[in-house]
Amino acid sequence: MIRFDKVTKKYNGTPVVSDFSLEIEEGEFFVLIGPSGSGKTTTLKMINQLIELTKGTILIDGKRISDYNLQELRWNIGYVLQQIALFPNMTVEENIVIVPEMKKWSKEDMHNRVTELLESVNLDPEQYRDRKVSELSGGEQQRIGVIRALAADPEVILMDEPFSALDPITRSHLQQDVVTLQHKLKKTVVFVTHDMQEAINLGDRICVMNEGKIEQVGTAEEILKRPANDFVREFLQTGLPHYQEEKTVQHLLDHEFYTTETTVFTASVDASTTIDDLILTLSKHPSVKVTDTADQEKIITRDQLVQYLASNLSDTKEVSV
Ligand code: ADP
Repeated sequence: MIRFDKVTKKYNGTPVVSDFSLEIEEGEFFVLIGPSGSGKTTTLKMINQLIELTKGTILIDGKRISDYNLQELRWNIGYVLQQIALFPNMTVEENIVIVPEMKKWSKEDMHNRVTELLESVNLDPEQYRDRKVSELSGGEQQRIGVIRALAADPEVILMDEPFSALDPITRSHLQQDVVTLQHKLKKTVVFVTHDMQEAINLGDRICVMNEGKIEQVGTAEEILKRPANDFVREFLQTGLPHYQEEKTVQHLLDHEFYTTETTVFTASVDASTTIDDLILTLSKHPSVKVTDTADQEKIITRDQLVQYLASNLSDTKEVSV
């Protein structure tokens, strides 16, 4: 649906997004995450041509973004920012119908749309539609920001740290509202955040960026269970206070709990097999074969598993001998 094909953005010759290739599916909630300066906003803004690419192509529904009429492209892409870009002296309704008005919707259609959208984020339409935006709380304003982006029924919504200025409770309510809305409306959402918990709460898939490049793309579960490299691992450890990577057979190999001597084995596992699954397999077989990343065969015996488990215990407990 949205395809990045070898996209590079340079400022004064310095790349801030490099050779970036990615496909975002239709109806997907896709999160871009990474430290400050990793190129998330630049990537997002290239989609609606707020930033021009230096090299490569972005396609929406198979058509290059540069081949779309710019106004049409922007109308069909909703955009929500952190700093609420609403007009404070206009009413809620006036703010929401900006794009529908430009698209020359009828008064009745606009009125109905405002009712429907306010209800979708649990704001009573009759109580809210005529209020000035400046009279609303931060959380209410950001709700209006979100539904305004949805007003003209765009296919794609871009969100750039929309909730990061809100207090944790309001933020969590809005996250929930956005997830519910997205499940109902099936829009394609590209969402920028630097908060891993938010990415996990919201994303169907998450793309971890660093220095303008992709470190890993996957579901929250894939990333949490199998961080692709040390950068992702450290990012998770810093962002999630209770994060502990699920250990796999690779961990035993890394710590030399194996033998290369010829030993009889009747079962095989992968280096990515979890320790729980290894325990299950070794409860039925005295030893298993595992092929490591260098294509070398190694054997893990029950004995070695027990020693490995004991060594992990002694990391956390004092073992009396
Ligand atoms: P993020 O959203 O991940 O924090 P950005 O996409 O905003 O990162 O920025 C990526 C890099 O590009 C940063 O190093 C930033 O300083 C640089 N950058 C962004 N906009 C400009 C600009 N207009 N001119 C020069 N450098 C810029």
